[in-house]
Amino acid sequence: MPAWLLRPLLGCALGLLAAPVLAQAPLTLTPIKASEHVYYFQGESGVAARANRAFNSNASFVVTGDGVVVFDALGTPALGAAMKAAIASVTRQPVRLVIVSHFHADHFYGLQALAGPGVEIWGHPNGKEALGSPFTQDRLEQRRRDLAPDVGPGTRLLGADRWLDFGPSREIAFERGGVRFRIIDVSGAHSPEDLMLWIDNDRVLLAGDLYFSGRVPFVGNADSKAWLAAIDRIGPLKPAMVIPGHGAASRNPQPDIDLTRDYLQFLRAAMGRAVQDLVPFDEAYRAVDWSRFAKIPAFEAANRINAYGTYLRMEQEALK
Ligand SMILES: [Zn+2]
Repeated sequence: MPAWLLRPLLGCALGLLAAPVLAQAPLTLTPIKASEHVYYFQGESGVAARANRAFNSNASFVVTGDGVVVFDALGTPALGAAMKAAIASVTRQPVRLVIVSHFHADHFYGLQALAGPGVEIWGHPNGKEALGSPFTQDRLEQRRRDLAPDVGPGTRLLGADRWLDFGPSREIAFERGGVRFRIIDVSGAHSPEDLMLWIDNDRVLLAGDLYFSGRVPFVGNADSKAWLAAIDRIGPLKPAMVIPGHGAASRNPQPDIDLTRDYLQFLRAAMGRAVQDLVPFDEAYRAVDWSRFAKIPAFEAANRINAYGTYLRMEQEALK
């Protein structure tokens, strides 16, 4: 029996033995078929919590004639193991490559279950610094507290085996088992190390946390200028389908792209004016007519924090 098959079985056996102590049911994930080669797992809405077993993000995989290419690893080692078992349920091809969209907890904690002999992990070179940052360490402590036992003392944060070297084109094209891929460097938009993965045969884009479907995006203190530049690289691809890092996939991406662009431009203009005129944030926020976006899902939850993050961004940009 090949090692890649033995590992999940062993993992299941250990999980069963440990179950009475950990009081955690084994996890089962169901892959959704997106296109000829692409499948994805869609997490629940909301934040990572013990109740949803931290399954609040998406991950995808691409079955080629020469192994499986995985995009993101979900938010716990148990989810990573469940991904591996689910992948084995649709193909006999082994996982050969895992590409990480960015090193936020909900997208890469499952790596340790997917890693192993014959598996390579690729990431943006800025991920190296992100992994060693106090932010990443604090987040791990928080997840150990809030998500135990799914995240615990045995959870290891893996980096890439290969930190990709992007040239001036900021793209890396490769072919594997009859499927053509393009890795697109959109770093600095949502995190310093963002990547998107384009599957050319199927015209599917795996977009990570830069794409939000049918809702006001979560901006926080993201660099909206870099984000707008990243969005401009999605349109020309004319994707048949976009699978985001969270929430539903979209087969009609243009309205989502337009909404995110309009919203980011609106935020930047409104908050940029306030910063220029030295208007305090609260006053500026009240003075803006938000009616254009107020009926769009997630407006209530996200708009004020987005405006505040953008206000701080525009202050930084003004000082530069
Ligand atoms: Zn993220």
